[in-house]
Amino acid sequence: MEKTKIEWTDSTWNPVTGCCHKCPYCYARNIARRFSGGGVLKYGARAVLNDPVIIDGKRAAYPYGFKPTFHRYRLKEYRESKGRNIFVCSMADLFGAWVPDCWIQEVFDECLAAPQHNYIFLTKNPARYIQLAKAGKLPQYNNFWYGSSVTGPHDEYSWFDEKYHWFLSVEPLLENLGEMSETALKPEWIIIGAETGRRAGKVVPAPEWIESIVNQCRKYKIPVFMKDSLADIWPHSLICEYPEELRKEDKAE
Ligand code: SF4
Repeated sequence: MEKTKIEWTDSTWNPVTGCCHKCPYCYARNIARRFSGGGVLKYGARAVLNDPVIIDGKRAAYPYGFKPTFHRYRLKEYRESKGRNIFVCSMADLFGAWVPDCWIQEVFDECLAAPQHNYIFLTKNPARYIQLAKAGKLPQYNNFWYGSSVTGPHDEYSWFDEKYHWFLSVEPLLENLGEMSETALKPEWIIIGAETGRRAGKVVPAPEWIESIVNQCRKYKIPVFMKDSLADIWPHSLICEYPEELRKEDKAE
């Protein structure tokens, strides 16, 4: 089990790690490389590990650095634990185009085997949700939450099917989202965060950009969650709201 500093969830679970998007602000890439086991994969290759890789007597969390890796041995980590909100694959994009359907299916199968939890997915590639749904491979349950990650108005974030729980993670906020269209305004939750770290060219969002999102959330009655990274930018108290089904007090251990 992984404790997490991510404010809006209770735990993270990483049966798949690694990502081929090239986001310049990626925190996960740096962590994975820092704790890499030094394993090398050919260009474009993926790894499947049925057992952990042990290096110097310890489990290597990212034996292949940020290369796509399926850690099958991690699947049952939360099988027996108390119900909680779990951010699935915080160190990957589980729905990246390079991830085979069978990996995703094994993760879904395990989610179904431990229905006491809420599973919170997030992707930069929401087209994969659509593909999977059309193929009948995207589970539609009350404890499955599908998120789209956006940073500005040009990212694709419209949803297609109201039967699924869907939310937006606007992090890092790099541009003013402006007025979101009514079609886009179906998310049941919006998370907002700013870029962290010391990257050259790091973007600090303007308070007006944040205010615009908050106002739209208020208008459409969407709960909004501000990450701690906004504390020095947003001039008021941070707003930390959850959809009813994900309220933390319901999940307390
Ligand atoms: S999608 Fe997420 S994990 Fe992948 S490179 Fe971008 S920030 Fe990193």
